[in-house]
Amino acid sequence: MQPIEQIYTRLDQPAKIVITTHQKPDPDAMGSSLALYHLLVRWGHQVTVISPTNWASFLDWMPGADKVLNYEITREKSEAIIMAADWLFCLDFNTPIRTKHLSPVLAKAPGTKVLIDHHQQPAVDFFQYGVSDTGKSSTCEMVYDFMVSSGKASWLDTDMAQCLYAGLIGDTGSFRFPAAGASVHRMAAHLKSVGLNHTLVHEHIYDSFLENRLRFIGHVLTNRMEVFYEFNTALIYVPKSDLLKYDIKTGDTEGLVNYPLSIQGIKMAAIVIDRDEERKWSFRSKGNVDVNTFARRFFEGGGHFNAAGGRSSASLEDTVKTFKKVLREHASEFQLT
Ligand code: 5GP
Ligand code: MN
Repeated sequence: MQPIEQIYTRLDQPAKIVITTHQKPDPDAMGSSLALYHLLVRWGHQVTVISPTNWASFLDWMPGADKVLNYEITREKSEAIIMAADWLFCLDFNTPIRTKHLSPVLAKAPGTKVLIDHHQQPAVDFFQYGVSDTGKSSTCEMVYDFMVSSGKASWLDTDMAQCLYAGLIGDTGSFRFPAAGASVHRMAAHLKSVGLNHTLVHEHIYDSFLENRLRFIGHVLTNRMEVFYEFNTALIYVPKSDLLKYDIKTGDTEGLVNYPLSIQGIKMAAIVIDRDEERKWSFRSKGNVDVNTFARRFFEGGGHFNAAGGRSSASLEDTVKTFKKVLREHASEFQLT
């Protein structure tokens, strides 16, 4: 993978460009993709954003979201666009598997692949150009850097700012995680200077749920959470029957994993959700507890040092058993005792 700086002048040639991101895009994935979309359209390109799957409805307000293709329901059209693309920008994922069914299509696409990402252990051989920096707060910060260092900072407009800010607050927990350093705050100031309405972005993302979701959270915290004080860990498990009973949609479980971290002394929180196709794990931690390695070793996943995800094809009961066993056997290795 060659440095991304090498493509700046080549982008002066109008081209067909596809932007894609990880399955079930979150605010950073969707925000960075759409901000880059606006930038590249202004640059003179023909641009399509393709999401591997659907996304949470709390992202629909983003400028440009109405034009994003959901690969799962536009397979033929999306594949034709991908195969015809000169450039494929891959945002906010480190390995093509994170694009689910899109992965084999990307693998055979002839266009030049460019990675912009901040996850650990990127599959660098898959991309011809790119930037991978685990020190960055978010892919939105990296798209902003891309815009500035390619000499297009003056193109920053309100639409881009709304998209970029969404990813910034999503991935920094609204500026509370350690990655929210001085450059992140300087970037936020720049976004404000072009008309960012930060209150509106927070409301769209955090205050746009239905009553059922809050009732669901109450139920889950009361009945589906186990705390292992000896290992400074808490676990939430969500059976399919709960998802059905509370009519839980994509995005409704976002953020749930963070609640147990508010308990004094808890250093790792885990949640497992019984989805149709797999049991989906999320891990969050504080300080020196490396959940990237934890997810990678035991749950076919990965991510960041303090935020990672994984999966299991076992039943909910069995994967929960595995988690408890792994916790008992490896807690000290992960600084949990
Ligand atoms: P979340 O728990 O919000 O789904 O994901 C937390 C972080 O880990 C995100 O940055 C996400 O991209 C990453 N992540 C989630 N699931 C997986 C996975 O199965 N594999 C890898 N490599 N990363 C994941
Ligand atoms: Mn991200």
